[in-house]
Amino acid sequence: MSNTPILQIALPTPLDKLFDYLAPIDWQITEQHIGSRIQVPFRKQVLIGILIGVTDTSSVAPNKLKTALTLLDEPPLLTATDLQLLHWASRYYHHPLGLVIATALPALLNAGHPPHVETPPSGHWCVTQTGQFIDPTDLPRQSHRQAYLLSLFQENPRGISETTLALDLPNPRPTLQALQRRGWITPQPAIRHAQPITTPLQLNTAQAHAVEQLTQHLSQFYPSLLDGVTGSGKTEVYLQLIQTIITQGKQALVLVPEINLTPQMVSRFEQRFSVPIAVIHSRLNHKERLYAWLLARAGTAPIVIGTRSAVWTPLPQLGIIIIDEEHDPSYKQQDGFCYSARDIAMIRAQRAKIPIILGSATPSLDSLYNIQQQRYQHLILPERAGLAVHPTFHLVDMRHQPRKQILSRPLQHYINQHLAKKQQILLFINRRGYAPTLICLQCKWTAHCQHCDARLTHHEASHYLRCHHCGFVQPTPIICPNCHSNNIHLLGQGTERVEEQLQQIFPDARILRIDSDSTRRKQAMFDMLEQIHRGEVDILVGTQMLAKGHHFPKVTLVGIINIDGGLFSVDFRGTERMAQLFMQVAGRAGRAEDAGEVVIQTYQPEHELLNCLINKGYHAFADIVLAERQQTNYPPYTRLILLRAESKTAKLALDFLRSVKEVARQLNIAEVELWGPAPAPMEKRANYYRAHLLLQAQQRNVLHHLIEQLLPILPSLVKKDVRWTVDVDPLDL
Ligand code: ADP
Ligand code: ZN
Ligand code: ZN
Repeated sequence: MSNTPILQIALPTPLDKLFDYLAPIDWQITEQHIGSRIQVPFRKQVLIGILIGVTDTSSVAPNKLKTALTLLDEPPLLTATDLQLLHWASRYYHHPLGLVIATALPALLNAGHPPHVETPPSGHWCVTQTGQFIDPTDLPRQSHRQAYLLSLFQENPRGISETTLALDLPNPRPTLQALQRRGWITPQPAIRHAQPITTPLQLNTAQAHAVEQLTQHLSQFYPSLLDGVTGSGKTEVYLQLIQTIITQGKQALVLVPEINLTPQMVSRFEQRFSVPIAVIHSRLNHKERLYAWLLARAGTAPIVIGTRSAVWTPLPQLGIIIIDEEHDPSYKQQDGFCYSARDIAMIRAQRAKIPIILGSATPSLDSLYNIQQQRYQHLILPERAGLAVHPTFHLVDMRHQPRKQILSRPLQHYINQHLAKKQQILLFINRRGYAPTLICLQCKWTAHCQHCDARLTHHEASHYLRCHHCGFVQPTPIICPNCHSNNIHLLGQGTERVEEQLQQIFPDARILRIDSDSTRRKQAMFDMLEQIHRGEVDILVGTQMLAKGHHFPKVTLVGIINIDGGLFSVDFRGTERMAQLFMQVAGRAGRAEDAGEVVIQTYQPEHELLNCLINKGYHAFADIVLAERQQTNYPPYTRLILLRAESKTAKLALDFLRSVKEVARQLNIAEVELWGPAPAPMEKRANYYRAHLLLQAQQRNVLHHLIEQLLPILPSLVKKDVRWTVDVDPLDL
């Protein structure tokens, strides 16, 4: 027994336990300090951890205990409520508490930065009297950034924050300064209490019903699915509920999948509310992120909008959570700490006894299942008549088309029609680059990545082969490296090849390709969107980057080059994803006055699910797929935990999982089925061989019971050079 208190500290290390330290004699440390950061010596380094408990005994011998170095926070950084959520996540995802906390905190806090920021990192700007009367179109062409920003400020007389501008226009600072020098805009303090400039809209019946239901349940856990296509008025429902929430002095947390793709959403919030809004996304620098976090924690920002990681933001007055596009896979982190922000938000709402809204035009099957089970309220917004007309679908049977043609004759015919009417066309293909396969017809050699089980994609502009999984590049050979024949050919198609064919067939059309290659340059996406909106583009070719977020009011024809990939995916969630993406892409057609058309090229025109989706819509499709999941015992009817292992040799990873399976069998938990181990669908990636062991059960708790017993044993089974992770509720198998 020692008299000095023992500090139990969560440290960012893979060891899933708390570490005991002695408090220096002059510290008056009590349980009041739980949640503070403390610097401690650990092995040969100094680490920063969080105080989780204060006791007077330790299982470590007193002479082995080290003494803590510095107390970084007083009062504590994290409240008991914050810590409870982190504890829950650590237990549920079987991830060490110290690492969970490190994921949840802004990087500067992990590095020991004090919990305050002297000067706000990015200001707020407003148009001046003079600026209000300048016509942006009078500015010379080379000042188009200034003209664009000026027009934004004129539309938002209450001003816009620099953070928000950065979503739209990367690195806005120099342009802002130029406008300031001209006297057209002026910096403003971040916190304003002006009157809102957009007023709430008169709700339609369905919206009013949704708002009413939720308003009646503001002080209890009330999970709901707001189910309505894009344009049906979901955002207006969010805005009006948030209005009530902030009038009550509470805070709202809004999660969105990719904020960079939806700057319109943020500006709609800024235009409606005269309160500070903390925007949290991946383009913030460390200081901006800390600042946003602090505004939220202090309650200064009643509204927090952010991507996945924003779910961890401390919100002392949390009153509602909104998850927009709840089906989006980006809510699940895919490596390291594999958490689902949507599921964590659900737990958070439950504990805080507040409503949570999942919004989507294509709800996940998990959420539809929860509706069936009457766990969530189903709030439906029907499409508003006269707004968007349903597109007409045309299936093209590619078996009856010339082999080499990427663009079938019917698709070409529709493109011609819409070009003649001066309307925009969007072609969707889910692969970038020129062609995904380079093959020698003499000896059957194909270009493979040396580091992955993947073919190399040819990129025409650079004439390089690239691996889209590890980044490996090499020049594209012109003779076969194996047999030296020149009979080598590019097979398959990517965005570049579609673009090339379009240029050949429609030489007068203005074609624009949008994928992660063409938008790599800073500001490229911005410039391209501008071009599209100004009507300087006839045909857009792109990957799913085009499907999300953006509004293209002039597009009336959408072509899907090849839908079959999603239909025959090996992953049990493949068809669900395909359908969601399909609905999103198809939804781009004919959103304004003109009815749209959607052309789908497929080798399986009779495919039942595809036809169901086209003729009966997403919900009919979802019913069939849910029934299939039930028959085949897949989630949401069962629960899964995936153990992933990887190593420099295939055998090591598989052997490790075999021994895990052996131990799991001995633990003899009959309700858990063990599948595998098996190599991952793409076994080798970036020189690592990857293998899976799948644990499946009807009940979540038996599964967790098994993994809890297994985890302490795993370190003794693991050989050198094997890395492993636990993925609870995996999205991809
Ligand atoms: P969603 O979030 O489902 O895409 P929005 O809330 O953005 O839908 O609404 C789509 C468009 O319809 C927006 O321009 C919005 O201003 C408008 N809108 C929404 N609700 C109403 C309403 N009750 N009356 C008039 N216009 C509305
Ligand atoms: Zn060859
Ligand atoms: Zn590779």
